[in-house]
Amino acid sequence: MKHQYEAVIVGAGGAGLYTALEASRTATTAVISKLYPVRSHTGAAQGGIGAALGNIEEDKPEWHEFDTIKGGDYLTDQKAARILAEEAIQAVYHLENLGLPFSRTKEGKIDQRRFGGHTRNFGEAPVRRSCYAADRTGHMILQTLYQQCIKNEVAFFDEFFLLEVLIDGNKCNGIVAMELATGEIHVFHAKAVLFATGGFGRIFRTTSNAYANTGDGPASLARAGVPLQDMEFFQFHPTGIYGMGILITEGVRGEGGMLLNRKGERFMEEYAPTMLDLAPRDMVSRAIITEIQKGNGIRGDKKIDDYVYLDATRIGKEVIEKKLPDIAGFCRTYLGIDPAEKPIPVQPTAHYAMGGIPTDTSGRVIRNEKGEAYEGLYAAGECACISVHGANRLGTNSLLDLVVYGKKAGGEVSRYVKEADWGTLPSSPEEKAKARVSALITGRKGRPKGEMTTEMQNIMMEKVGVYRNDAGIKNAIEGIRGLREEFTGVRVQDTNKRFNTELIEILELENLLDIAYVTAVAAGNRTETRGAHSRVDFPERNDEKWLKHSLIWLEAGKHRIAYRDVDISLYKPKPRAY
Ligand SMILES: Cc1cc2nc3c(=O)[nH]c(=O)nc-3n(C[C@H](O)[C@H](O)[C@H](O)COP(=O)(O)OP(=O)(O)OC[C@H]3O[C@@H](n4cnc5c(N)ncnc54)[C@H](O)[C@@H]3O)c2cc1C
Repeated sequence: MKHQYEAVIVGAGGAGLYTALEASRTATTAVISKLYPVRSHTGAAQGGIGAALGNIEEDKPEWHEFDTIKGGDYLTDQKAARILAEEAIQAVYHLENLGLPFSRTKEGKIDQRRFGGHTRNFGEAPVRRSCYAADRTGHMILQTLYQQCIKNEVAFFDEFFLLEVLIDGNKCNGIVAMELATGEIHVFHAKAVLFATGGFGRIFRTTSNAYANTGDGPASLARAGVPLQDMEFFQFHPTGIYGMGILITEGVRGEGGMLLNRKGERFMEEYAPTMLDLAPRDMVSRAIITEIQKGNGIRGDKKIDDYVYLDATRIGKEVIEKKLPDIAGFCRTYLGIDPAEKPIPVQPTAHYAMGGIPTDTSGRVIRNEKGEAYEGLYAAGECACISVHGANRLGTNSLLDLVVYGKKAGGEVSRYVKEADWGTLPSSPEEKAKARVSALITGRKGRPKGEMTTEMQNIMMEKVGVYRNDAGIKNAIEGIRGLREEFTGVRVQDTNKRFNTELIEILELENLLDIAYVTAVAAGNRTETRGAHSRVDFPERNDEKWLKHSLIWLEAGKHRIAYRDVDISLYKPKPRAY
């Protein structure tokens, strides 16, 4: 079946919905999503959205901008950070006007709390910058934006799975997707296509990410010849529930919770004397792993899967129930404990992709090291790399990125489609996608997909996790390459067309393997330590050689690497201490 819309947006999380809202003001707009929109992973975001409103204490966009640049270990493009911080205030008030029910102060203003790496006066002390709706901020954003999109008559294609992107030279003309309910292949002819497919934490074993976070957008684009940027930078959040990875928001530490080792010591005093538990995530995750390696984890056996305690008992039951109700619920459900009475066992969990599809600040996808863009191809949200988060994102800056840069990308799409002509589709645009699906149905019986997924996740966790070294990464690249070769023999057992979840999971595994491969290659290539990329064999940041973005092209199981400059026009890089 064929459809024609001026703007096609792939993804219905915060980024997809915000861009759809903007684009649909003037363009016929369709949103394609493998999930029902409000089940998108943005709904899991807990702690809040950052903006220097100064509702509780003095705050300024310049401080927010600086924190974002320093937090990103100076790989952040600095003008992009300035836009983020300056437009944050308006963005939050706009969400409020759209109907988002923020938590309030006694005076009725939007309440704000502390979050990791957000400081007053260029690093002096933590500041209350995170605007929140209890610990359900992302859920509220999704509900608010979805209602607004319905009002704007955006066409939703729910439970449609992206299979291929149709790029002709440097111009994108549409996508091909499969309808899950019928197995039917649909072609979407578009003047502009925007990718907002979210993160890919599922390449790792322990992750805060949903099962759906499989990097389908970046992987499909990489196979179509689009480069991926800064893929070596994957953030581990310090506080995932031990053994499960489910996130315990930084908001717990923002409200006064603290990390303790087996001796009951507040070990962050040693690693970040000013910011303590509210240092950026890369530093806190490394501190936890270092404590574990010293034998100070709670079990004390120095094994990588040991854990530490997050003590929230000092916050008090009333504040926990009012400001962190979901966290209290997770602790009761998954651990059988009340966080107001007992400490929460936590360990670092794979959380956020700083790297992804390279874009400029208007959301246009970049195609080469000169910064030239494709025509009619855009990206926003976690799958994109602007790069506003550099080598390490600060908490609350992703929801903000979705809104600030979602607005810009949506506006740019709306402008572009009014001037652009319809591109020409090939005579059988669905042919490649059909062949891909049919190969999975008729192929020889390969290894079970579950086994291959687990092997990939273990390799990535153990060799390309919080700490990395050359030998481990080489081993990981070989392992992932081997799995990718084995994948060509994978076949589905279930050949039904309706809701064939086995087929979808296999397609997702293919995407994960390609993303894992690029991530491992990028990690092996960067011989320095910066932000979330921590090489034990190259423990220092090396600005002389590595103050640059990496671009990787995936070429038939191989790769090509090039670089782009980082914009450091506002602040000179300095050593990063907290
Ligand atoms: C547990 C948790 C808590 C967080 N808390 C915060 C926080 O407090 N503050 C903050 O700033 N950030 C937070 N983050 C990060 C932030 O929530 C995410 O980075 C952000 O929500 C991603 O939004 P998105 O729109 O890019 O992607 P998503 O919300 O993940 O949406 C992706 C969309 O793409 C669609 N899609 C994917 N693949 C396909 C395909 N093949 N075909 C069709 N559709 C497809 C999906 O259906 C979905 O609609 C948190 C993250 C996690 C995991």
